[in-house]
Amino acid sequence: MTFDIVTIFPAMIEQAVATGIVGRAIERGTLEVKVHDLRDFTTDRHRVVDDVPYGGGPGMVLKPEPIFRALDAIEGQRGRPLTVVLTSPQGRRLTQAEAERLSRLAHLVLLCGRYEGFDERVRERVTDEISIGDYVLSGGELPALVILDTVARLVPGVVGDEQSVAEDSFHRGLLDFPQYTRPAEVTTTRAGSVERATTLAGPGPVDPAVLKVPDVLLSGNHAEIRRWRKRAALSRTLARRPELLSEADLDEEEREILRELVAERDKGVEYGRD
Ligand code: SAM
Repeated sequence: MTFDIVTIFPAMIEQAVATGIVGRAIERGTLEVKVHDLRDFTTDRHRVVDDVPYGGGPGMVLKPEPIFRALDAIEGQRGRPLTVVLTSPQGRRLTQAEAERLSRLAHLVLLCGRYEGFDERVRERVTDEISIGDYVLSGGELPALVILDTVARLVPGVVGDEQSVAEDSFHRGLLDFPQYTRPAEVTTTRAGSVERATTLAGPGPVDPAVLKVPDVLLSGNHAEIRRWRKRAALSRTLARRPELLSEADLDEEEREILRELVAERDKGVEYGRD
């Protein structure tokens, strides 16, 4: 899959995509990420990409012509039609389902805003407007990287183990089950000791706690482990994000476990703790 990213801070993108899963996928040729400096598409000596807003008010607005020229150049190179994503806090919220849709495309253009955002007319060339959450960042580079990373890991061959992507949170509408690694027992201070230590009353006694991996995960019984994980994922989703369950893609065993969990909840059994 190919990504063209248009930004006034190319280094921010270039550094971030050079490492990790995305970096390795680029080296292997599974992904291509081309970063375009918006200033290369200006025509004036000072390479100006922004101007004051019509009607007055604070801040600067990204001018439309450099963006149109950048899109023309990408279109010339890649061919039509382009899927052009405008990063914006006003866009549709990025979800795993949205990322899955985008990962089926061969090519994606990501536009990174700055200042007060883009001149409204840029939207004439945009096919998707995506927000990464209900908060405002100073620029579209981090959102573009979030979109790139989320979409790229769904492209076959990018993550080494396809099973790990299939088990990720949200993939089937469930949160992931809890994970443990060695050692089987670890000692730490109890949760809450940090808070006590910073109160005006001074540090309280610190309780050591032995934290054990659930026995079933050490049992070697794969059928039991599989069922425990299903139950843990469902229990966690029911506790933290119950609204996901109405859309979740559950098998018969999971539907049965969910019925048990809901019955336990209705009887007042504490669940969702692991
Ligand atoms: N004045 C704009 C508004 O309120 O909609 C915010 C502009 S913001 C300071 C500058 C740029 O950061 C935006 O053009 C967009 O590219 C990016 N950005 C900020 N928050 C974002 C978010 N939650 N999701 C996606 N992009 C975001």
